[in-house]
Amino acid sequence: MDYVTVCGLEVHTELATKTKIFCNCTTEFGGEPNTHVCEICSGMPGTLPVVNKRVVEFAVRTGLALNCEITRYNKFDRKNYFYPDLPKAYQISQLYLPICRNGWVEINDSVNGGKKKVRIHEIHMEEDAGKLVHDDWTDCTLVNYNRCGVPLLEIVSEPDIAGADEAVEYVEKLRAILQFCGVSDCKMQEGSLRADVNVSVMEKGAKEFGTRTEMKNINSFKAIHNAIEAETERQIELIEDGEKVVQETRRWDDSKGVSTSMR
Ligand code: ADP
Ligand code: MG
Ligand code: ZN
Repeated sequence: MDYVTVCGLEVHTELATKTKIFCNCTTEFGGEPNTHVCEICSGMPGTLPVVNKRVVEFAVRTGLALNCEITRYNKFDRKNYFYPDLPKAYQISQLYLPICRNGWVEINDSVNGGKKKVRIHEIHMEEDAGKLVHDDWTDCTLVNYNRCGVPLLEIVSEPDIAGADEAVEYVEKLRAILQFCGVSDCKMQEGSLRADVNVSVMEKGAKEFGTRTEMKNINSFKAIHNAIEAETERQIELIEDGEKVVQETRRWDDSKGVSTSMR
């Protein structure tokens, strides 16, 4: 049986603003832990976020470069979740009215030759979370809130990407456009460009997509490529063995070349 791979990517990019999205703290990478924080980005009660104008400008600039429609009336929403990297216990994001919609990026068509459009479903503005650092020596987990409130764009593609090569080309294209627009340095090794990769497989010629899995926060081209190839293989094996793919989030370990279920 022949199978085709279907991928959709959610790419997060940290914006190259001097200050954070809702306060005046610096966005500079590094620094002593917990020195780039204030009462707003650390979530003290009674503080009010005020949106950074540059973030909105950068989002619009990105949307125009990616052929999107720009939403005139914007609003932010609270995405509640409880985790130590998030001092407010909610992330401010755009759940219902994303600033950009219906765009596209052109890449080479690896199946039919020529060019094809990868459609962009939406781009929204949101804030980054802090970082947990596990210390094996003392067997404890420390938290660094310097990254809390660093502005992010999340660029969500439609499932138009047919496998690892196209996914890598798509992210390379995005990176070039974001850098050209001056909205992000896109340093993958510093996490300022990272991708959540959704993968499914289906029989060639099938009309309906298969069940997808998602691998979060992949931060190199090589890892994006390896993760998609390995996940494609794993899903095909399951189907050939008469089993079902379970919709879930999996953790990709690039050094071992395997993904594991996170539940
Ligand atoms: P959620 O909000 O739960 O993450 P979405 O519907 O927004 O779900 O989809 C997230 C990503 O998954 C999008 O990039 C989309 O293109 C991709 N996707 C959706 N269905 C599939 C599928 N069957 N196979 C591969 N990718 C998919
Ligand atoms: Mg998702
Ligand atoms: Zn702050």
